[in-house]
Amino acid sequence: MTVLHGIAASAGIAIARAFVLHDDENPKVPRYAITLSDVESEWSRFINALGRAREEIIVLRDKTKKETGDEQSAIFDSHLLMLDDPDLHNSIQNSLKSTLYNIEWVLYQYAADLIQQIEMLDNPILQERSSDIYDVTHRILNHLMYRERFSLADINHDIVLIAHNLLPSDIVSMNKKHIKALVMDAGGKTSHTAILARAFEIPAVLGLGNVTQAIKNDELIIVDGDSGVLYVNPEPEQRAYYDGIIRKKEQALKVLLSEINRPATTLDGKICTIKANIEIPEETAAVKKYGAEGIGLFRSEFLFLQSKHVPDEEAQFQAYKKVLEDLAPKPVTIRTLDLGGDKVAPELFISEEKNPLLGWRAIRYCLSDTELFQTQLRALLRASVYGELKIMFPMISGVQEVELALEQLEQAKEYCRSKDIVIKDTIPVGIMIEIPSAALIADILAQKVNFFSIGTNDLIQYTIAVDRGNEKVAYLHDQFHPAVLRLIRHIIEEGHKAGISVGMCGEMASDPLALPLLLGFGLDEFSMSAISVPRTKQIIRSLQYNEAKELAEYSVALENSAKIVSHIKNYLSDKISDTI
Ligand code: PEP
Ligand code: MG
Repeated sequence: MTVLHGIAASAGIAIARAFVLHDDENPKVPRYAITLSDVESEWSRFINALGRAREEIIVLRDKTKKETGDEQSAIFDSHLLMLDDPDLHNSIQNSLKSTLYNIEWVLYQYAADLIQQIEMLDNPILQERSSDIYDVTHRILNHLMYRERFSLADINHDIVLIAHNLLPSDIVSMNKKHIKALVMDAGGKTSHTAILARAFEIPAVLGLGNVTQAIKNDELIIVDGDSGVLYVNPEPEQRAYYDGIIRKKEQALKVLLSEINRPATTLDGKICTIKANIEIPEETAAVKKYGAEGIGLFRSEFLFLQSKHVPDEEAQFQAYKKVLEDLAPKPVTIRTLDLGGDKVAPELFISEEKNPLLGWRAIRYCLSDTELFQTQLRALLRASVYGELKIMFPMISGVQEVELALEQLEQAKEYCRSKDIVIKDTIPVGIMIEIPSAALIADILAQKVNFFSIGTNDLIQYTIAVDRGNEKVAYLHDQFHPAVLRLIRHIIEEGHKAGISVGMCGEMASDPLALPLLLGFGLDEFSMSAISVPRTKQIIRSLQYNEAKELAEYSVALENSAKIVSHIKNYLSDKISDTI
């Protein structure tokens, strides 16, 4: 048995065989000279590979249509059309004859040239097409090179997925039913990959460095997502121990689920609101199952990452409407696009940047592409009549951004009125406070909006200057750093002075150790992965608000997080149990 330690990124225990995903997206394409007499046989190799790619795309299209509907499957119809494009056929045939290179190389060059030409045009719509060209030509290439094209969506038996680094878009499109746990070389606790693993209730241990080298396919693995430990080829005693833990957790969950409708009221009567974060509309089922009192954060950018293209106004409207209707009359906060940073997909239009986390992200991106922003705002306004919508802007760094975003919203409202589109009269508008500059001018920002939501994942990243997805500096990503706590306290105080509600939708909101502090600071609303809701409500019900206030005041004056954590642990020791 080998024991490996990483970052406990998504809670839960899983036992299954390893499936190691090696990055071989770009295997070397062979290049060799042919003669004129070979042209015909190379051409027929191309036609055969094209036929196999066609069969594969038809299967994918039908499956997608059944599972997610027409909008997503339409992309495969366009891939089928590309296979029959006379331009493709003529260009390949001509270059085979003119260059006298093998078909793999000719096809590879054709795709590379076309993609380069399109990318130089700087047109987002056409750039979207370049990812389709890449996809279709690589599918044919894979057949020419006798390689099976592998997709995480095709996994059909239970596995522990071991990978170097998966993009958030990989997680949304993989077959979640059979991926029992996720283990990666890279990643931190608040990376979006970790957040998604929690949303989909997949235990995850991340940031192991070189786990893809240490584990072989089919080895039996126990993944302990609670403590960040992996057991490779476990001893029978270890296995028996974890089978016992799994049973205990199932029992504890049953108890929690039996009281999901009880509010989160402290022993001395302070009522807290506990909501859920979601990434895709399908998660509303879990939001209801776990008794959340609304959605505190719908990360709308995942609609883009999931479908790997820009959804039009109608597709966005349908998604927002579904979520609002599913939750009504409970409130739903939909955050406008926060693409960029680690939320990118090769198929989307975000360009490569030297410092993506400090770059063209979220509201900055939307304010520079107002057509894209207006499309989203119109879709949101149209959906507003189907439930209790709140709109939230991400990554606000100063007053001007709020004002520009509000102007954009006003413009979208005027458009709707001019077209007689019915929208809700009052839609609360809020901002995320996740950049230190915004936290420090919370008093000014609070005059402009109806609510704040603290995004601790980014606030910690930018306050301590620590990349939230980089395992090498993960030890510095510390939510109990006194600087972070002081900023949080300041945001809540300033929000309250201005009479607005202050919530938190960063991962800190569900950390049992952070709860008494946040309660003591007076946080109004806690929003988190749906599965964390019942446990959070239970903990809050066991606390005294008056005690929490004292604890928070005392803790924030301590000099480091170790002292703060030990003080909170002492306070909580007789109040909460360890299970779940
Ligand atoms: C945050 O930064 O805390 C947050 C909730 O937003 P995201 O994780 O999507 O960046
Ligand atoms: Mg954020």
